[in-house]
Order: sequence, then C-alpha cells, then structure tokens
Amino acid sequence: MIKIHDLYFKPFLTATQISDAVNNLAYQLNRDLADKKPVFLGILNGSYMVMADLTRKFNHDCEIAFLRASSYEGTSSTGELVETLNVDIDLTDRTVVIVEDIVDTGLTVDMLSRKLLKHNPTALHVATLFLKPEVYNRELKIDFVGLNIENKFVVGYGMDYDNLGRNLPELYVQTQRMKNIVLFGPPGAGKGTQAERLKEKYGLVHISTGDVFRYNIKNGTELGTLAKSFMDKGNLVPDEVTIKMLNAEVEKTPDAAGFIFDGFPRTDAQAKALDELLASKGSEIAGMVALEVDDEVLVERLLERGKASGRADDASEGVIRDRIAVYYKQTAPLKDYYTAQDKYHGVDGVGALDEITARLSVEFDKL
Ligand code: AMP
Repeated sequence: MIKIHDLYFKPFLTATQISDAVNNLAYQLNRDLADKKPVFLGILNGSYMVMADLTRKFNHDCEIAFLRASSYEGTSSTGELVETLNVDIDLTDRTVVIVEDIVDTGLTVDMLSRKLLKHNPTALHVATLFLKPEVYNRELKIDFVGLNIENKFVVGYGMDYDNLGRNLPELYVQTQRMKNIVLFGPPGAGKGTQAERLKEKYGLVHISTGDVFRYNIKNGTELGTLAKSFMDKGNLVPDEVTIKMLNAEVEKTPDAAGFIFDGFPRTDAQAKALDELLASKGSEIAGMVALEVDDEVLVERLLERGKASGRADDASEGVIRDRIAVYYKQTAPLKDYYTAQDKYHGVDGVGALDEITARLSVEFDKL
C-alpha cells in the first residue's frame, strides 16, 4: 500500500501486465493502420508514458503530436475541458489517432474529438490503453482498447492524483486506509481464537508470530530450530529474529486491508520496529485491543489447552508461569507505549467466546 496526499492506493497492475496491454494496443494499430501514416495525438499529461511505449511498437510511418486536455480535477469529473493547446501538424486529410492513457466517462475524449473533427481529418480514431466500460457513456466509438478495467480510481504509469504518482511504473488502485490492530494480552487470554473470528469479520490478515514459529519448528527450518530453544523454556525469541520474520510475513500480503497482530509486538523494540514498518507503507497501528484475564484463569486455561493441543510450552505449569512472568516483565509495559498515543483499549477477556468477540468488535468498529 502507498499513500499519495490523503489517499491510499494498493497494487493493481504490474509493469508486465501494463506492458501486455500496450502490446495488445500496438498489435491492433499495426494491424489496422499500417499504410495510413497516422498522426498519433497524445493527450497530456497522462498519456506521455503510453505514447512513448506504444509508438515504439508501431512498425510503420507515423507522426507524433501532443495536446493538453483534461476534464477532471482530483479524483472526480468537473464536466468541462480544462485546457487545449494547438497542434502544430495540419490534420486535414490525415488519419488521426487520439491516444489516451485512460477513458472513463469519455468526457474529455468526446469533447476533444468534436474539436478535432473541425480540422477535417480523413479519419479520427480513439486509442486508449485502459477503458472503464462500466462508466463509459458516450456515442463516440473507442476504436482501440489495450485493456478494460473496473471502475476504480487508478494512479501510476502517467496517471496522477493531484499531480503525484505519474512516475510509478505500476498501476495502483484507490483503497481504504489500512486497519492494523494489535490484539494484546497475556498467554492464554484467547488472542488466537478471537483473531481467527475477527479476521473473517473485518477482512483482515491475521499474523500470529507464535504460529509462524510453530510452523517453522514443525517443518524443521533453521528459524524453527533457533526459536524452539527459547520457546521450550518459555522465553522470548530474540527481537532481531522475530522482527525480521514479522516483516517477511507482512510483505507476503502487500494488498492486505490491514493486519491483526497476535503475539507481536512483545517488546519495546518490536513495537518501534512495527511502527517503522507500517510507516514505510504510509500506515500505522490503529489501536491496541487487549484481552484482560486474571493470572489464575490463564494458568487453568493453558493447562487445558496443553492437554488438547500437545503444545510443549503449555504442558508444564512451571513453563506457563514463566511465560506469564515474561509477559509482565517485557510485554505488559507496551500498554503504556500505546496508552501514551491514546491507542490502548482494554476488554474483559472472561466469558463465552461470542460475548468476548462482541466486546472486541465494539472496539474494532471504533478503529
Ligand atoms: P504464542 O503462541 O504467542 O503464545 O507464542 C509462543 C512462544 O513463541 C512465546 O512464548 C515465545 O517464545 C515465542 N514468540 C511468539 N511471538 C513472539 C514475539 N513477538 N517475540 C518473541 N518471541 C515470541
């Protein structure tokens, strides 16, 4: 996810997919206009990238010119043609191809084609790299289309949002701000169980560092072997290792609507690293939602879980009490870190599963 001005955008088309669309457009132009010596008329500013790539793939004589025209400001249509420049080529009796980066309602291209027809070209065509068929509502025929896309606001590959984003080689689509939540609480508070429910409800990606470590242990990876030596004793895996792993997990879903972090951060250094990682994506932690449960309830719950799951660190009361102690020493202070930012929200973690999900949802809804 990236942030441009006040809006958030997520990856939509890769540079390769864009290149395929350009090739498709070039194929059609080569096929139909080979002997027409067309004038390709790029509409500035947006079409500068597609003009450069497309005309290089036109294998016949052609001329190139540019017009400046737009009928929108920001992300919405204003309904009038903002500006035009004179073309320095005589278009009379020529085959003219208006080249657009994108056509949505068709307002710009429609108004422009009316103006250009006054120059009496032999033929006037419209070629656009992207078309939004859902919203295109003009009589004017769009003769050549590289790719149809859905009706979403896009930036990149020449297209901007308030003048930024044109230089991006990929296409991005507008999206909601990421909702990143730290689900907090001592071992046995029910974070994992509740995160599974909440991720469905809110469309978020659940990352449990404990689960990732256990997966690595099960698969005998180097990371697993390292983590196991700490986990078996109820200690924390070193920050450097955990932070690196967490970053890699986040990078696996670049277009996530947000994350539920479960079991991370557990130290001050991890909390800071998480802030940095999210800031690099133009995002942040929306809030820490904590399940509050008494220690004796935790010990009871974890011993029960150990019987059912066979988790080594849940099997002995000694290790369980060590983990709770580690929690109070190293992890619980994070409550202050998020409280200082006005981001801490505590929830009673004792009761029926549905009740607790409902309590957590009240907090999630506010974030
Ligand atoms: P959990 O499943 O969250 O209870 O984690 C089980 C164990 O994995 C912990 O007791 C730690 O040894 C290790 N672990 C999980 N998350 C972290 C973390 N953020 N930092 C350090 N160690 C962790």
